Amino acid sequence: MNIIGIEKSSFIDYPNNICTVLFTGGCNFRCPYCHNSSIVNNTGDRIDEDKIIVFLKKRKKFIDSLCISGGEPTLQKDLYDFICRVKEEDFIIKLDTNGTNPTLLRNLIDKKLIDYVAMDIKAPLAKYPSIVESVVDLKDIQESINILLKNKVEYEFRTTICKELLSIEDIKTIAKELKGCKTYVLQNFRDGETVLAGENKFTSYKAEELKEIEEAISTLLNRVIIR
Ligand code: SF4
Repeated sequence: MNIIGIEKSSFIDYPNNICTVLFTGGCNFRCPYCHNSSIVNNTGDRIDEDKIIVFLKKRKKFIDSLCISGGEPTLQKDLYDFICRVKEEDFIIKLDTNGTNPTLLRNLIDKKLIDYVAMDIKAPLAKYPSIVESVVDLKDIQESINILLKNKVEYEFRTTICKELLSIEDIKTIAKELKGCKTYVLQNFRDGETVLAGENKFTSYKAEELKEIEEAISTLLNRVIIR
């Protein structure tokens, strides 16, 4: 596993759990608002997988969950085997993914190797290529959505929003495409020097606009959370 970042304790990355977060290097998307540019560009020292297992074993009394984030973790050829190793230590596992590897996602869910999935929804399906600035197979994205909608694992869909890339109408279209989903999270864009396209390029939504969006889509979705 190409793990190039670790947050030893996080209170926000796994709902209702304190978790350790691992960041895998590299991504097959180039979302311009991404705030993990160094992880996406795969720069940073690799952390030895065995050392992570030892670390997790030591922390068992305090932490019982692991979040595997990125970059895009499903690009890692040995992700499945690594998750098996962590599961042997009785950790619950959350996977963050952009949904481009439905085969691996299904396999991990069917084998009960992951307990929570947070899947990014980048845009209405038709707008994906322009937002992620990469070649994307929309069938894969739709398949990953369908897998999670079957409710075999706890999950959330989540969208990072900024005014320049997604309009309120776009967000309503996403909500229609996710109709029936359990939990949908809107993450307001946060600027900073680690943003992939550079600082001061994008604008966050105002609190009152977020409220308006929440009201507009909450008739379509069970639970809308704003972060
Ligand atoms: S936001 Fe996620 S999917 Fe997009 S470039 Fe960053 S890590 Fe990759």
